[in-house]
Amino acid sequence: MENCYCKSGKPFKNCCEPFLNKTAFPETPEQLMRSRYSAYVLHDADYLVATTHISEQKYYSKAEILKWSKSNTWLRLEVIEAHENIVEFKAYYLDEKQQDQVHHEKSTFKQKDKVWYYLDGQFFG
Ligand SMILES: [Zn+2]
Repeated sequence: MENCYCKSGKPFKNCCEPFLNKTAFPETPEQLMRSRYSAYVLHDADYLVATTHISEQKYYSKAEILKWSKSNTWLRLEVIEAHENIVEFKAYYLDEKQQDQVHHEKSTFKQKDKVWYYLDGQFFG
């Protein structure tokens, strides 16, 4: 594959695939964020739950994640800003009615035992 699902410009195998395969851990919150976007594209709800911080996992249902990931057509990801434990991004997708939508979020990530996890996000209308 020429370009990873997260549109980093790198091949999938050199970008998000090792994280989704659990053969490597993302070294930065941006890498984790990108791999989570790719997980939405691939409907990998297990990965999305596993990379959510343990303190927040109770708020997420695997079935809901799967439904959300499958009901939309994921078009592309745009990382606006990434620094320290914060990543601001826009995910462009078509909803069930084939309408253009943008999910704009500023995500916070947290490390546990040197592994990065998604903590929570601030959403913009
Ligand atoms: Zn990627």
